[in-house]
Amino acid sequence: MTIERMEFKTEIKQLLDLMIHSLYSHKEVFLRELVSNASDAIDRARYESLTNPEIAEKDGGWHIRITPDKATNTLTVSDNGIGMSKEEIITALGTIAHSGTREFITALQSKEVKDNPELIGQFGVGFYSSFMVADKITVVSRRAGQDPGKGVRWESTGDGSFTIENIEKLTKGTDITLHLKDDEKKYLQEWEIKSIVKKYSDFIEHPIVMEVEREKQSDIDKSQRVKIREDETLNSQKAIWLKDKNDINEDEYNEFYKHISHDFAKPSKVIHYKAEGTSEFTALLYTPSKAPFNILYRDYKIGPTLYVKRVQIMDHCEELIPPYLRFIKGVVDSSDLPLNVSREILQNNRQVDIIKANITKKVLDTLQDMKNEEKDSYAEFYKEFGRVLKEGIHYDFERGETIADLLLFSTTKTEEGKFRTLEEYVKDMKEDQQDIYYATATSMIEVLKSPYMEAFSKKDYEVLVLLDDIDDFLFSGFEYKGKKFKSISKGSIELDKSDESKKEKTKKEYGKLMDMIKDVLKDHVKDVRMSGRLIDSACCLVADEGDPDPHMEKLLKAMGQEVPAAKRVLEINPDHPLFAAMNRIFEKNRSEPVLTDFIFLLYDQALLLEGSKPQDPSAFTQKIAQLMVESLEKTGT
Ligand code: ADP
Repeated sequence: MTIERMEFKTEIKQLLDLMIHSLYSHKEVFLRELVSNASDAIDRARYESLTNPEIAEKDGGWHIRITPDKATNTLTVSDNGIGMSKEEIITALGTIAHSGTREFITALQSKEVKDNPELIGQFGVGFYSSFMVADKITVVSRRAGQDPGKGVRWESTGDGSFTIENIEKLTKGTDITLHLKDDEKKYLQEWEIKSIVKKYSDFIEHPIVMEVEREKQSDIDKSQRVKIREDETLNSQKAIWLKDKNDINEDEYNEFYKHISHDFAKPSKVIHYKAEGTSEFTALLYTPSKAPFNILYRDYKIGPTLYVKRVQIMDHCEELIPPYLRFIKGVVDSSDLPLNVSREILQNNRQVDIIKANITKKVLDTLQDMKNEEKDSYAEFYKEFGRVLKEGIHYDFERGETIADLLLFSTTKTEEGKFRTLEEYVKDMKEDQQDIYYATATSMIEVLKSPYMEAFSKKDYEVLVLLDDIDDFLFSGFEYKGKKFKSISKGSIELDKSDESKKEKTKKEYGKLMDMIKDVLKDHVKDVRMSGRLIDSACCLVADEGDPDPHMEKLLKAMGQEVPAAKRVLEINPDHPLFAAMNRIFEKNRSEPVLTDFIFLLYDQALLLEGSKPQDPSAFTQKIAQLMVESLEKTGT
C-alpha cells in the first residue's frame, strides 16, 4: 500500500505552531473538540440515513467511544458517523475550511487574537487542538456508504506535513488516535476522562461510552467482590434545550454554546423558551460576547441549527432569522416541520415564517430589556453588533422603529464613550427643531470642526454623529416618530426662517456675482446658493437630498461600484467679508481675471472641507503661495 506525504497549507503550519506552544490554558478542551466533531459526524450520518437507509444504524445504535490504552499511551475517540473519504480528509484536515487564508493569517497576527487566543476558536480549528497533548495523531476513517476497502489512514506529527494511505476499515465512521506526549498521560485516567466529558460534553445527544473497570459482587461466590470491565455511558445525553430552564445552570448553557458556535468565549445573553400555539418549537439562542471576525463578509453563515423532533436537519438555517440578527447562534427544534424538510420547502413554508417572526420578536424584546435593565452589558453588546443590528431599520420596514429604539448614538452632546437613544434625542429636541439631524464622518472631531455644523452649534441643536460606512445609506430618508432624518451636509437647511427681508437684500446685493460664480463653475457644481448653515466659513459643498454623501460615494467606489459623479451644490455665506470684497471688484470690473481665480479657489476650499481633494492640487497650492507673497508685499514685510 503506498503512503503519500503531503504538506499542510501554510496557515495550518502557523496554527499548529500556535497550538503546540500552548494556545489554551485548558488543554483538556481537545477532548471536547473531538467529541463535538464525532457528534456532528453522527448527526450528518443520521440525517443522510433518512434518505439512504443503507447507512442507518441497525444494531448498536449511534455512539461515540473513548478508548484509553495505557500500554501504548494512546487515547482514541471513535464514532460510527459519516466518516471521510480520502479527498474529504485531505481537505478537512489539511486546510482550514471556513476561512480565507489571508483573513486567517491576518487574524492570527492581530493584536486582538494575540491578546485573546480563545478567539481562534472561531476559525474551526478544533481538531488541531489535539496537538497540544499529542505528538502524533492517527485518523482512520471510512465514508458511510463506501466499501470497507475504501478506508483511509491519515497521520501527522504536527511538523508541517501529513501522510495518507488507503486501507481497509470494516466499520463506517472515524477513529482518531492521539499518541500522548509523555507529560500528558493523565488523559488516560478513567476519572480524568469522565470528568472532562461531564464538564464539557454532558448534553451531547449521542452516548459517549467507555469501557470502565468496576467492582461487583461475584456471581459464583457472593461474599467475594470481583473486578469486571464493562461499557459505561459517560454523558446524560439530554438535549439541553428540552430541559426545564430551572434545571440548567450557567456552565451548562455556556458549554452548549461553545459546542454549537465554535466560540471559545462565553455568550453574553441566553434566550431559552418554548413557543406554543400556532407553531410549536423550542429555541435556545445566544448572543456572543464578541463579533466573529467575518460577520460582515458575504460568506458568513447565518442562522441557528434546525432540529425537527430532536433530529438535526441543518447547521445554519438562514430562513429562521433576518440577516440583521445574524449574530444570534443557537438551536431551534420544531415539532411541526416534516423530518425530510429541504431548503426549497423551508423557503416557502408558513411554519418557518411563523418561527422566524416569533424569534425575531423575542430577540428584539430581549435586547430592549437588556438595554433598559443592563445598560453596561448592552453598550458592550452594541459595540460588537450595533453595526449589524442597525441594518434592520432599512431592511425590516415593519419593525424599523422598534429597531431604531435599540440603537445607541454618539452625538455632538455626548461625552466620549457615552451614548444617547433616539427617544432621548427627540425628547430633548429644541422647540423650533423640526427634524432629526445627523452627520456622517470618520471621527467625532471631524464633525465638531465641520463648517456644516456652524448653524447647528449656534442654535444649540444636537446632531447625531454617524461613523459607520453604511450609515448614510441606512438613515437618509428614515423617519422616527414622524420626524425625518436629515443630513447636515445635504439639501438646503433653513434653521432661521425669520430673516426673509435680509435674504431679499443679500440676493439683490450679490445676485449678479452669484450668476457669475454659477457660470464659471457650471461644469463642476449643480447650483450656487446662499447658505442657511454657514456662520464663519465662506463656502461649502452640499449634496442634494437623496444623493449619496461623499463618504457613501467613496464606499461605493471602494466596493467597485460605478458611481456617477453626483454634482454638488456650492453654498456661500453672504455674511463672510470675502464676498463683500469680491463684490467690490466685480462692480468695478466684471472681467477682472482675479475674480475667476478666486471663484476656483473658493470651490477648491469647499472641496477640502467636505474631505475631498482640490481638483488640481498643484495649481491650488501655487495660487495660495502667490496670494501669500502678494499679501506680504502689501504689508511691506
Ligand atoms: P470544525 O469542526 O470546526 O469544522 P475541525 O478542525 O475540528 O473544525 O474539523 C475540521 C473538519 O474535519 C470538520 O469540519 C469535518 O469535516 C472533519 N472532521 C473532523 N472530525 C471528524 C469526524 N470525527 N468525522 C467526520 N469528519 C470529521
